[in-house]
Amino acid sequence: MTPLEIVLCDLIATDGPMRLDRFMGLCLGHPQHGYYVTRDPLGAEGDFITAPEVSQVFGELIGIWAAGAHVAMGEPSRVNLVELGPGRGTLMADMRRTIAKISPALAAAITIHLVETSPVLRNRQRQVVGPGASWHMSLDEVPDAPMILIANEFFDAIPIRQFEMQDGIWRERLIGLENGHLVRGLSGPVGGPDGRDGDVAEYAPAREAIARQIGERLARQPGAALIIDYGHLTSAPGDTLQAMRKHGFREILDRPGECDLTSHVDFEALGHALWDGGAAVLPAMTQRAFLLAMGLEARFERLSQRADILVAQALRRQMARLADEDQMGNLFKALAATSPGMQSPYPFGQT
Ligand code: SAH
Repeated sequence: MTPLEIVLCDLIATDGPMRLDRFMGLCLGHPQHGYYVTRDPLGAEGDFITAPEVSQVFGELIGIWAAGAHVAMGEPSRVNLVELGPGRGTLMADMRRTIAKISPALAAAITIHLVETSPVLRNRQRQVVGPGASWHMSLDEVPDAPMILIANEFFDAIPIRQFEMQDGIWRERLIGLENGHLVRGLSGPVGGPDGRDGDVAEYAPAREAIARQIGERLARQPGAALIIDYGHLTSAPGDTLQAMRKHGFREILDRPGECDLTSHVDFEALGHALWDGGAAVLPAMTQRAFLLAMGLEARFERLSQRADILVAQALRRQMARLADEDQMGNLFKALAATSPGMQSPYPFGQT
């Protein structure tokens, strides 16, 4: 048993069966034994790799996007550059370097705010991001000001609830206890929409609350938000909860606290919550479409010109990984939201 498994069994023994969002929240964020609290999970030796860790070009192109967003905002002289869940700080460091090169106006305007709960990753970010950044446990700690907000692979780690339909009745999926071990179970009947037997519906109130908060900020102050994650453009039933360890899938109840637990992001629900908070939401696109529109190929081409053959081959593999349809290109989506009435930041809303 993992130390967290003992904690979970005790909690269930006293409080009864546990909802998946609580289980997921404890697995990822328990103050002593949570997955993100106890480790840096990124990289080849870790459990998974994210786009900024694949190539510097990802963060560079997002830096270019931010410079465009700054212009669309009317070039305010003070801007909070906010990142949710910055991981190793790589994306912010790459963005910052590019912004310094291409937009002195934005470079002079920004204060960096990192929203990060993991002490291990905060340390890492401190070394990588450079001076002048501040850290927060949640978005509501970030001071109010014009804002450019980035979140890459953040929302997939925010807990969800799941419901399944059997014999025409929806029940919530719970984690229970049997002979001292964690087991999956179901609640009593709950109300719900029409569905078919076997349907699994996911609902992410914690995600929607954060998206609504972003929307409320964009309604109060000029700003733009860019959210990138794996997920689907329109809401649909399906079980997307996954556990991952050492780059392979695991069972959800396997070694609690030692596996990453995530689920696919429902971009329709996320967009609705941003809108509900008061933001203008622009149609989402695939990561492939976003990166190609931002100049992915030209940037890799330029890096390849200075590279020897082996490096050039590695660069080609990195570009394919980020943008090919059968790699991250189609599974990952990019969504932008802005203050209402603002010009749309390229490449969003260009119809
Ligand atoms: N954006 C990074 C890291 C993605 S991993 C990248 O693309 O490489 C998820 C990140 O979100 C980690 O930094 C993790 O510590 C952070 N995180 C997870 N849950 C969080 C929460 N509730 N609040 C703030 N940060 C959280």
